[in-house]
Amino acid sequence: MSAARPRILIAEDESGIADTLAYVLRADGYEPIWCATAGQALAQYRAHRPDLAILDVGLPDMNGFELFRRLHELPGADAVPMLFLTARSDEIDRVVGLELGADDYIAKPFSPRELVARVRTILRRSARGASAPAPSPALAPVFQIDGERRQIRYYGQPLELSRYEYGLLALLVQRPGRVYTRDELLDMVWDDAAQSLDRTVDAHVKTLRAKLKAVAPEVEPIRTLRGTGYALHENLPASRAAAP
Ligand code: CA
Repeated sequence: MSAARPRILIAEDESGIADTLAYVLRADGYEPIWCATAGQALAQYRAHRPDLAILDVGLPDMNGFELFRRLHELPGADAVPMLFLTARSDEIDRVVGLELGADDYIAKPFSPRELVARVRTILRRSARGASAPAPSPALAPVFQIDGERRQIRYYGQPLELSRYEYGLLALLVQRPGRVYTRDELLDMVWDDAAQSLDRTVDAHVKTLRAKLKAVAPEVEPIRTLRGTGYALHENLPASRAAAP
């Protein structure tokens, strides 16, 4: 994050909510950018990439999930934390199910102070996450981590990871063999563990495994310890078997 005021993109069509949000964010030292439609939000994102984005699910021109997907077609979006604003419990289920890999959600009606606290925590976490974690030396041939770009290579192939997939894998590869419970993972990787659920961890491990498998189908680096949690295998082949 630069020394400039962190830019927060707000996609929200209700001006009353947007005004309140912009007011509390500005008072806390952020630069809010209000967009009343998804189209404006996409244009603003292209013009000035924000440090964080708050997306209302119910927007007039497309829903917040679609906007999220469209934003993720643009460069750098994986590094921008995104929060959904939602009023409906079925929408909350979609966010929590993390089909999309979004960072969090805020249920309407919300307390503006709570929201700003959440924004602050998430931005602090992403700044801290930029310092480089190093894989255990035994795994150095298998995983390379670029902490500044939040990028992990696996057998030389760059992985396209969401924020939490990156956080999970960066943590696991530092201490192969160490078993992490779901609670520990929530606590160490997620911004607001109290708001998250065990199945959130499982959902991210599942998508992470699929991405690892796409690179090396014959290797399963993440172990599931039934009823306990997850660990990274201590012994992984240093290079991949030659294809037949
Ligand atoms: Ca709305």
